[in-house]
Amino acid sequence: MRCPFCRNSDSRVVDSREVDEGQAIRRRRSCAQCGRRFTTVEEAVLAVVKRSGVTELFSREKVVRGVRRACQGRPVDEDALQQLAHRVEESIRATGCAEIPSHEVGLAILGPLRDLDEVAYLRFASVYRSFSSVEDFEKEIADLRSVRTAETPTA
Ligand SMILES: [Zn+2]
Repeated sequence: MRCPFCRNSDSRVVDSREVDEGQAIRRRRSCAQCGRRFTTVEEAVLAVVKRSGVTELFSREKVVRGVRRACQGRPVDEDALQQLAHRVEESIRATGCAEIPSHEVGLAILGPLRDLDEVAYLRFASVYRSFSSVEDFEKEIADLRSVRTAETPTA
């Protein structure tokens, strides 16, 4: 890593600490030539393989953007979106794979989104699973109802 001030490639680590719950390490470095300090962040990358075969870095922000669209007009705040994206990232990291197909990111979104808002879930699922008819919605709603029934203890 070159010094951003003088481009010298030699630097010394003066401090390093874990950030983002241990998912990244931030290092404070001191340039051996000009003595100025700068910070580097090191994190294990999570790559998403798109259908076209192109890989890109997993981005929580992108998850938030996709879900936010489905949540338009729904009582879902920014905080809830961030939490959902965090859950999605954790479930993806838990698979132990460094590269995951993009459709699995979609899958990882469905569960937490269903817990968050059922209407947003239906919108997201309709795009993600490319619903083509009213019957597709009916089937999904029937599934939602059966999940809800299973989760609600009978009196
Ligand atoms: Zn320097």
